[in-house]
Amino acid sequence: MAAEVIYGDQLAQSLREAMKEEVTALKEEGLQPRLVVVLIGDDPASRSYVSGKQKAADFIGIDSELITLPDSTTEEALLSLISKLNQDQSVNGILVQLPLPKQINEQAIIEAIDPSKDVDGFHPISIGRMLTGQETFLPCTPFGIITMLKSKEIDLEGKHAVIVGRSNIVGKPVGQLLLNEHATVTYTHSRTKDMQALTKKADVLVVAVGRAGMITQEYVKPGAVVIDVGVNRTEAGTLTGDVDFESVREVASYITPVPKGVGPMTITMLMKNTIKACVNQNKK
Ligand code: NDP
Repeated sequence: MAAEVIYGDQLAQSLREAMKEEVTALKEEGLQPRLVVVLIGDDPASRSYVSGKQKAADFIGIDSELITLPDSTTEEALLSLISKLNQDQSVNGILVQLPLPKQINEQAIIEAIDPSKDVDGFHPISIGRMLTGQETFLPCTPFGIITMLKSKEIDLEGKHAVIVGRSNIVGKPVGQLLLNEHATVTYTHSRTKDMQALTKKADVLVVAVGRAGMITQEYVKPGAVVIDVGVNRTEAGTLTGDVDFESVREVASYITPVPKGVGPMTITMLMKNTIKACVNQNKK
């Protein structure tokens, strides 16, 4: 039997509707969640992500401001902007869209954001808190993936989760969150020997590489839950994942599509983090 498809766009929509009500209630208490997105340069993919974020914010009632800066922006100028946003009490969340131009040290920028406004969950303090199982802002893509798994009541305890990819924003943290859910986690990456032998053992397989269709049916254990994070542009201009959807859905138990899978959930979790930042900052 073909796998059940987990549509992230549908789950995202229902979560956004609930958040809209939450924000309406916050507004009645005099609180207005506010997110500032900083976009440097003119990368079309980054522009498209940013516009998706703004649309979601508008729908929910989050005030979102986009600051666009030229490709030639210096690290010093960006640090000074972040410092201003850190001090501005009307700003609850700050997101600097990655990647950044070469002259700017990405890690220095991530570390400059006040951890209480780190809605992307990339600051070392947020990561450290996640690692030690404390309450914090979770990075949006891994948070979205866990939320998708929970929406289907997929039991993770004792399951073997295999992650393909070890980036700081997806691979590493999604493995950590699965570990926090009591899965047994194996990381694989470009230097892994005989990756297929490992992916074949996965009860839960998360793929975040950026290579169209690299995971075919031969890499997947029958009955596995397959989460496709990859976003690749085809020659025809459409989007496709890292998983060969049609062949893998024949053996998996659950599978996420691309598009309409993890992507909309990532944006939704950013909104969730922004509302949380607003509530936390005003509780103090
Ligand atoms: P990175 O390029 O930062 O990381 C890719 C990872 O894949 C690396 O760890 C790399 O290994 C590994 N890798 C590369 N080639 C192979 C291979 N042949 N076999 C096994 N592993 C390999 O990418 P990101 O994590 O940022 O993103 C991954 C994908 O997910 C991209 O398509 C991106 O567009 C998408 N994405 C989607 C999001 C969403 O919301 N849907 C959000 C973020 C990303 P090594 O470390 O050894 O180099």
